[in-house]
Amino acid sequence: MHIQANYSLQPHNTFKLDVKTQYYVEINRQSDILTLRTDIKLASLPWRIIGDGSNLLLTHDLEGVTIRCTYKQIKIVKEDGDNVWISVGAGVKWHDLVTHTVEKGWWGLENLALIPGTVGAAPVQNIGAYGAEAQDSITRVHTLNIYDGQRQEFRHSDCQFGYRTSIFKQEFINKLLVYRVTFQLRKYHKGKPNLVYAPLKQALSEHPVSELTPKMIYDTVVQIRQERIPDYNKVGNAGSFFKNPIVDAEYFANLIEKHPDILSHKMLDGNYKIPAAWLIEQSGLKGKFHGHAAVSNKHALFLLNLGGAKGSEIEELAHMVQEEVNHQFGIHLEPEVIIL
Ligand SMILES: Cc1cc2nc3c(=O)[nH]c(=O)nc-3n(C[C@H](O)[C@H](O)[C@H](O)COP(=O)(O)OP(=O)(O)OC[C@H]3O[C@@H](n4cnc5c(N)ncnc54)[C@H](O)[C@@H]3O)c2cc1C
Repeated sequence: MHIQANYSLQPHNTFKLDVKTQYYVEINRQSDILTLRTDIKLASLPWRIIGDGSNLLLTHDLEGVTIRCTYKQIKIVKEDGDNVWISVGAGVKWHDLVTHTVEKGWWGLENLALIPGTVGAAPVQNIGAYGAEAQDSITRVHTLNIYDGQRQEFRHSDCQFGYRTSIFKQEFINKLLVYRVTFQLRKYHKGKPNLVYAPLKQALSEHPVSELTPKMIYDTVVQIRQERIPDYNKVGNAGSFFKNPIVDAEYFANLIEKHPDILSHKMLDGNYKIPAAWLIEQSGLKGKFHGHAAVSNKHALFLLNLGGAKGSEIEELAHMVQEEVNHQFGIHLEPEVIIL
């Protein structure tokens, strides 16, 4: 275990911001935490957990200790005729895991291909895309307490999964390090494709459903994502910057009177979800620049580091977007990205 002082997190955030942390340590085993805690200076500082920084906006240098889990083992822990249960280290890249399961012919993770970040963050964020969420396949989450290294295991029902959230993002944020995650996946002959997301179904409509394989779904998701989503290796970003806001039926009735072409999705509880990208676009903000940051002119939900932007510039741009959307629609856009 190597403790690095005044360490740049630029390789560990997808906005590619050159922000320093006072101390940086990679955790590979339970005893690493216990060893670190014996250092009185480190133990007295605040600690925070990061993964690949693909949902973070770092606006200033960080005081204290930043830890990152690098445990990467993947092993089958149980198997029956229909299912396989795999335990995966938090340090594995999410997309590498999806690729591995698809190559094995297992169903479950294929709709979540190409989501950046680590396996450790997947239950924290309950990542989701194309009609699937990480929680659909997670059966257990194994954690380490970052104060005393104690192990704690959570069953699916303990995780309080919700839309892009879980108990690990609420009560236990920066307290429990997700160390490994167990997934239950369906074997090839027992699974079936998840085509609830209409554009995915459409893209595969030439093939009879019975002939679809996890790899075909995976390839199609990768292709759609590559066409739509800016590559953070070329231009720094953290995915969708804002959550899609939800308004009640009364407010929606007012909105549709003023904006008859408004896009929306009626939810089961009678409220309406409105695409944040549409609100930003209608507010005339698509392509808006602020210093070295911009709202993507391809997909308005993405804020971009055009090169050399400071985190504070991106945060200011986010505030401008919030103000303008609020001014035009009376709707507050809540960031999905975690601002530190
Ligand atoms: C181009 C792009 C596209 C994206 N598309 C999607 C998408 O389709 N769907 C989606 O859901 N998300 C998407 N995201 C967001 C992002 O990929 C996910 O939120 C991802 O899970 C973050 O993983 P990370 O390892 O980078 O975590 P980080 O961003 O480093 O951290 C996120 C949070 O998780 C916590 N955390 C990280 N690792 C651990 C751990 N081991 N133990 C405990 N806590 C931990 C951190 O403290 C922080 O609170 C996208 C991002 C980008 C850049």
